[in-house]
Amino acid sequence: MNEKLDYAQLGLKVGLEVHQQLDTHTKLFCHCKPELFKEEPEITFLRRLRPTQSELGQIDPAAYFEFQKGVKILYEANSQTSCLVEMDEEPPHPLNMEAVEIALTAALMMKATPVDEIHVMRKTVIDGSNTTGFQRTCVIAINGTIKVGEKTVPIQHISLEEDAARKTGEEGTTIRYRIDRLGIPLIEVATAPVINTPKEAGGVALAIGKILRATGKVKRGLGTIRQDLNISIKGGALTEIKGVQELELIPLVVEYEVQRQLNLIKISQELAKAGVRPENLKEEFFDVTEVFQQTNCKVLRKAIEKGQRVLAVKLPGFKGFLKRELIPGVRLGTEMADRARFWGRVGGIFHTDELPAYGITSQEVEALRKAVSAQSTDAVVFVADAPENAKDALKAVLERACEALKGVPEETRAANPDGTTRYMRPRPGAARMYPETDIPPIQLTEEYINKIRQNLPELPEQKLQRLMQEYNLNQKLAQQLIDSECTELFEKVAKESQVPPTTIAAFLTETLKSLKREGVKTKNVSESQILEMFKAVASGELAKEALTEVFKWLAQHEGKTLHEAIQSLGLKMLSEKELEEIVEKTIRINKETVEKYRKESFHIIVSSVMREVRGRANPEKVIEIIKKKLEK
Ligand SMILES: [Zn+2]
Repeated sequence: MNEKLDYAQLGLKVGLEVHQQLDTHTKLFCHCKPELFKEEPEITFLRRLRPTQSELGQIDPAAYFEFQKGVKILYEANSQTSCLVEMDEEPPHPLNMEAVEIALTAALMMKATPVDEIHVMRKTVIDGSNTTGFQRTCVIAINGTIKVGEKTVPIQHISLEEDAARKTGEEGTTIRYRIDRLGIPLIEVATAPVINTPKEAGGVALAIGKILRATGKVKRGLGTIRQDLNISIKGGALTEIKGVQELELIPLVVEYEVQRQLNLIKISQELAKAGVRPENLKEEFFDVTEVFQQTNCKVLRKAIEKGQRVLAVKLPGFKGFLKRELIPGVRLGTEMADRARFWGRVGGIFHTDELPAYGITSQEVEALRKAVSAQSTDAVVFVADAPENAKDALKAVLERACEALKGVPEETRAANPDGTTRYMRPRPGAARMYPETDIPPIQLTEEYINKIRQNLPELPEQKLQRLMQEYNLNQKLAQQLIDSECTELFEKVAKESQVPPTTIAAFLTETLKSLKREGVKTKNVSESQILEMFKAVASGELAKEALTEVFKWLAQHEGKTLHEAIQSLGLKMLSEKELEEIVEKTIRINKETVEKYRKESFHIIVSSVMREVRGRANPEKVIEIIKKKLEK
């Protein structure tokens, strides 16, 4: 963590887009189940990627490029989770009103203004993740706000979208996608770019996630929520980072992006100082296959044996810059390699900043430099592949080098699980939305909105205050209850069992969490069994110290009753008479100690008795009896 950076001075601006799958009965534009399947697909079909044309007649350059490369998509499906709509063989059905209602609920909780009429739009998507070539999306409400600590964060819009197909593999020019996920309703919440520190970005995402969960109608688990971040700093550029799945990762992703941009700015300044100009970077490719005819580098030898060529390009003045680390594990050379892979569909690149290595000798590096007439301050990048691919790859490297002279390129990047990012595609232009003509607009009447407004769930902040006041819980415990999402069960148990609320709350949060960590199948115990357990505590039938043990037993013996648990564990509560006998026996055994130390012997007797009766007696009762007996 880099605590030293002054983010205000750097002009950091972050906007957040949270995408969360809704827990509806059907998909957004058809009646299929919004679920994923694990089995082998029942149906597969192959499509060629075709560039879609927007109304303005512009063809997305990246889509056109992929089209030229002959990229094919193999879609996998089964009949449970997809139909002709997902295959783009049938027009979409009307918009799912259950999803609309959930989105409106969340929107009203964020004080947003619903639109008068919902218009479904098409957003061009270039990677094959939608069978149609576009994603359907519609704005539900605009201009909301949420409170995060002391700050009011503007929410620009709340929208509904169809989720995309999920990628399951890639072989050569064929990409595999599974269309089960396609069409699952997603709510999109977009903030204004008003977030100024990495930590705040994490806090805002958490606050939005809590509001969405408070609707009670969102899916849970990894992959059901994805956050996109728009990040810029002064003198840098707007970078769009897609697909951060873990909330905890957000601050780190922002921090890395700031670091990346700062390092790229520094590199551009140093290159300028060294006198490197765009006109020095020439689209001149050298066939250097001869240089590596006898090479020990496996990758190169294999390529040459296959009849492929080794092509090289010179980057004047770039020596040393390609190995400069931008963020951990990502160098300027890595960014060039990402571009080469994307635009040339090659496996990777070699560059002189990392050589000799990989079986490439210093003699070969010398020969290479000579072959392209490189000066001592130049870097050389080379690729082994079919000449067309190699050329495209080197063109992309050159372009990235040109951008390095200017500083930070505007691009869309994908988040890695470790918080770093990788190149995904150029940032799409503005003209990528156009109306979906297959779906009629939907009017939102005031009456309909008011009905939803009257049934809004409590905001997490309100609920926190209420739990603290009504049940006298401390803030930490109340927050844990909300986070664990068993507030409803807690309130039911507290109202029906007379057990102190703190005991119930601690059990439902901390105890259950640690049991889960131990591997106890907590789901095997039903809510009504938990209620029954606490009622037994209240009636004196069960000691609260025995709750954990009983719960564990019930989790292991699904279908058995609380009574059976108490019997089987020998936890039947001791009668007062039985307790008195145990206390008397213990005092007898410790007679000498009791007579010698009097008052101080109290603790010894208590711990000795408790060891014997734990879980079968109320500790307060035990202490009362011991006091009484010792006084005699
Ligand atoms: Zn369907």
